[in-house]
Amino acid sequence: MLAVDDIPCALMVTDAQGQVLRINAELLRIIGGRERDWRGRPMEDMLPPAGRLFTQNYIFPMLHHAQRVKELYLHLLGADAGPVPVMLNATRRPAGPDGEASIVWAVFVALERSRFEAQLIQARADAEGLAARLAASNEQVERLNRELAERARKVELRNLELSELSLTDPLTGLKNRRALELAVHAWQPAPGQPCLGALLLVDVDHFKRVNDSCGHAEGDRVLVALGRCLRASARTTDLVVRLGGEEFVFWLPGTDQGVARHVAERLHQGVRELRTPLGTLSVSVGLAAWDGPAAGDVLSRMLRSADEAVYEAKAAGRDRTVCAQPLPGLAAA
Ligand code: GH3
Ligand code: MG
Ligand code: MG
Repeated sequence: MLAVDDIPCALMVTDAQGQVLRINAELLRIIGGRERDWRGRPMEDMLPPAGRLFTQNYIFPMLHHAQRVKELYLHLLGADAGPVPVMLNATRRPAGPDGEASIVWAVFVALERSRFEAQLIQARADAEGLAARLAASNEQVERLNRELAERARKVELRNLELSELSLTDPLTGLKNRRALELAVHAWQPAPGQPCLGALLLVDVDHFKRVNDSCGHAEGDRVLVALGRCLRASARTTDLVVRLGGEEFVFWLPGTDQGVARHVAERLHQGVRELRTPLGTLSVSVGLAAWDGPAAGDVLSRMLRSADEAVYEAKAAGRDRTVCAQPLPGLAAA
């Protein structure tokens, strides 16, 4: 017959109130003492306070109600008084004709489970630490990205300022030759496509006299005033450019020769009203218009044509506009 001490599992039998009736050797190895010392004592004596509460409030009511409990996890006071984690199963045997009701307890040491739980808790703490570090570095990356975007915006603004500067004449604030080239090339259609525009080349009459009589600085001031006056006589679609020295260009996209002539007249009128230390001022204007298919470098051809017309205007007595032969000319048309 198999004796309870031979079973490789910690076992105990109590009465229905939990008073110890039998304890096997395996359980005594965990809780210490001898069986006869335990007999008659409440089984709660093996438990720390939390376990006692649990037994009173859950295990006994459950046994009473369902006759059994399974896989309950609690601690026993070990032989050396340290808590030993255990898994508990218990069955209540109802009172028979031969005796009182009793409870059979099977106890399994659950050190592995405890270790596993401790590892889980540690792993969770590690993961939380890692998540916190990740959040912190994400924040840092976001901050760096914001700084980078801000710097890129400033560089872009600076580049815009620089490109604006590179297209502006510093003395008069008008656009320069480079801006004229960009504007005309952007406007110029593909070769053979219809193309309509006009250009006024404006050269100040006897400007040298202003410099010679009043000095170069005064000459500069006259150029600035003239720049303002030219801009005032331009339409919003026209581009006014200081080509260099005392020469200016009106670029009139989409404008034919007749309308360009009116713009030139308004320009003469405005300049005549200007006052300089030497009195009035006048300009000679060469008008070149393009009305036909685009061909070659339209700007260069218009400028050359307008230059010849300025020369003619000077020869004819200055303070006037001369219209060049319309471009692209009969041969190309
Ligand atoms: P015209 O065109 O009627 O034949 O006579 P002009 O006296 O205007 O002729 P010219 O082209 O020989 O002289 C232009 C003068 O413009 C010569 C130069 O000293 C002056 N000039 C060119 N650039 C500047 C400038 O930036 N500032 C000043 N103050 N003078 C300049
Ligand atoms: Mg000149
Ligand atoms: Mg001149």
